[in-house]
Amino acid sequence: MAEIKINNMVKFYTLCLLSTDSKHGYDLIKELEKKLGRKISASNVYPFLSTLRKNKLIKFDKVGKRDKKTYHLTPDGKNFTKQMFSKFGDLINIAIEPRITACPCGCKIYSGGYTKKIKGKIMKFCCSHCAKEYK
Ligand SMILES: [Zn+2]
Repeated sequence: MAEIKINNMVKFYTLCLLSTDSKHGYDLIKELEKKLGRKISASNVYPFLSTLRKNKLIKFDKVGKRDKKTYHLTPDGKNFTKQMFSKFGDLINIAIEPRITACPCGCKIYSGGYTKKIKGKIMKFCCSHCAKEYK
């Protein structure tokens, strides 16, 4: 697998956007600007696209008279993107894990839950039933 570092949001979103659909370079830049809320220049994007192409992760087709290129992921590119998503997924799990509390029943409480004061101590449960059963 190619050694490509996804070390900024432009690269990350470029792969996200290409994983959903093939894109013209121009549309890609416009969508990146919308996602990141700032101006993106061609020089932010094209060197990365050319790295991806050299590693055979993307291909492009020339369409139309104005030589507009449409970029799309190759099967290798799709695999690479999938791995990237699962790596980021793990990072997100690490980031949220300390904030997850567990109910005495063993359920993990990601958000909400049911809070009850028991013997002067605030306890968190996944639901009111667990709170009622807790002694
Ligand atoms: Zn519970």
